[in-house]
Amino acid sequence: MIAKGWGAATDRGRLRKVNEDRFIASPPVFVVADGMGGHAAGDLASQLAIDEFGSMAGVDHVTVSDTMLAVDRANETILAESSKDSARLGMGTTITGIVTVVAAGSEHWLVFNVGDSRVYRVMDGRIEQITTDHSEAEEMVAAGKITREASRQYHRRNVVTRSLGTDPAPTADSWVFPPELGDRFLVCSDGLTLELAESAIHELAANVDDPQDLADQLVARAVSAGGRDNVTVVVVDGERAASTDEPEVDTTPRPLVQENAI
Ligand code: MN
Repeated sequence: MIAKGWGAATDRGRLRKVNEDRFIASPPVFVVADGMGGHAAGDLASQLAIDEFGSMAGVDHVTVSDTMLAVDRANETILAESSKDSARLGMGTTITGIVTVVAAGSEHWLVFNVGDSRVYRVMDGRIEQITTDHSEAEEMVAAGKITREASRQYHRRNVVTRSLGTDPAPTADSWVFPPELGDRFLVCSDGLTLELAESAIHELAANVDDPQDLADQLVARAVSAGGRDNVTVVVVDGERAASTDEPEVDTTPRPLVQENAI
């Protein structure tokens, strides 16, 4: 298992009456869902999506297609539940996460995204956003109409261009890549990035060693900085430092096997 440590925290924030964010942090799945829709529908949508991933928790051999299937199933479940009650009409959720999958015979990270929650990779000396937001604000940035910094306070910041609970089903973005020493990932709802600049997020992520402690501190900072939205952070660590009892790489020359020998 390439996930070696993890932690998670969530908070309703200071302005919202309900926390419509949900998460799961249970290997091999680390997922955040940010629900939308009034009358307790947003938290139902995000809960339904997370429940779909709950069935993958504790499973040893998860694949990319298992994960994508869970996204599709979550979309179908949300659609089916929303048709049962007019108060749930239009309920939906973002879904964003990192899963350890077996690809080409070995463990890899799979990052996937629908909506405007994010996955960040914390690297040596920098933080890198892996996901691309599916939001009107991101489209405005891409079109050069507003700056990335201004997009954090964009007045229609809440408008997402892809979400679960839609027909036709949204296409999830996905990235598959091998583990590297020092891997640290943050999965977060937009309530974090609304309040904290990436530089502030990076500063904490680079200095707080314990993943649960980091998740708690990031959420607390976002709430004290304004807490205008629900805020959720899941931290996932791979192998954090070179292990001393690692077996030496075997460099013994092997006899050459001549192929096509006649
Ligand atoms: Mn949000």
